[in-house]
Amino acid sequence: MRHLLQSSVFQLCFCLLSMLTVSPSAFSYQMRYLQSGDHALGLLRKHGFTNSDREKASSLPDFKTLASLTLNLENPYLLEKTKTKVEIIFFDATRERAVQVIKSRGQIQVKSLSNPYRKQKVTLKGSFRGPIANQIFRQTRSRWLSTRLHDIYFTEDLSDLSSGQYQLEVEKLLYSGKVIRFGEILKAEIKAKGRRYVREFHPLKTGGVAVNPKDPGLERDFFAPVTYLRIASPFSPRRLHPVTGRRLPHMGVDFDIPVGTAVYAPKRGVVSRVGYQKGAGHYLMIRHASGWESMYFHLSRAPRLRQGQKIEAGEIIALSGNSGYSTSPHLHFGLRRKGRFVDPLDYMKEYPKIAEMKILRSIAQR
Ligand SMILES: [Zn+2]
Repeated sequence: MRHLLQSSVFQLCFCLLSMLTVSPSAFSYQMRYLQSGDHALGLLRKHGFTNSDREKASSLPDFKTLASLTLNLENPYLLEKTKTKVEIIFFDATRERAVQVIKSRGQIQVKSLSNPYRKQKVTLKGSFRGPIANQIFRQTRSRWLSTRLHDIYFTEDLSDLSSGQYQLEVEKLLYSGKVIRFGEILKAEIKAKGRRYVREFHPLKTGGVAVNPKDPGLERDFFAPVTYLRIASPFSPRRLHPVTGRRLPHMGVDFDIPVGTAVYAPKRGVVSRVGYQKGAGHYLMIRHASGWESMYFHLSRAPRLRQGQKIEAGEIIALSGNSGYSTSPHLHFGLRRKGRFVDPLDYMKEYPKIAEMKILRSIAQR
């Protein structure tokens, strides 16, 4: 993986590379990659943390963050080993956070780093034949980027585009002079079928949203319920279980977001149900006009709303979580019209209500 990553790096255009300055300590970290089956505690053992070191580490408050990091084979960790010290920095594969673990003269420290990166903008250009995501992956070896492209273009069916050109402005995330991974796609333009498909990323306090500046999709019925749209699992009513082959339909869309993220009402409505169920965990349902009903599963705790309560679009209705049958923190968002489930992405605007004013204002200023 490492070789692939390095070779593909040469195909990128490093517009701002010349402006990069590196601190003298930058080269003391070694970049390492996880092997399949590796996890944080195993890596600590591998790099000289004894059982009692690891016990100490896991009793520290920031260990919780370490345990919740998404680690994958695509992203490196950093290692620094001297006679008196071992330091390892683990980076989350999907969020901008990291955890530093240090063993120095018998002392163990675990520290979560919430804004660990220095950012650098790079431009990726190319043409594609066949699925564009495959081409982005070939060029960058980044699964994150190729799936992120689908996230930001969820109102278009990119798989309908069989050939064309693209130009992406992308963040590169650096720690201590080392490129750890790609960050956000800040601007995207795809030329295909005689059209230009443009997206611009608007950062928000709790994430950020990608918008088509020419057509922000105002006519769509629902606002997004969260301010960062990362699709962990799409709507698939005919999904088969990969192992058993049994039907395991997914009647909503899952957004990958940290526990405790605000969930906003996507449209005016009335609370129809609040409760707890084994699979859905803490859940909430809202009834809207014209036979619509929206639902929110795996919330972090019971929403403080009662049945029959009126809700305005953009109101905070719940906090996302990981309750019920859920393997990682996410919001399950379902939409039903006259009793029939539909794909929420077909009815959702590209941005949440809470971002609307800010985005429209910034578009109007140009
Ligand atoms: Zn789901």
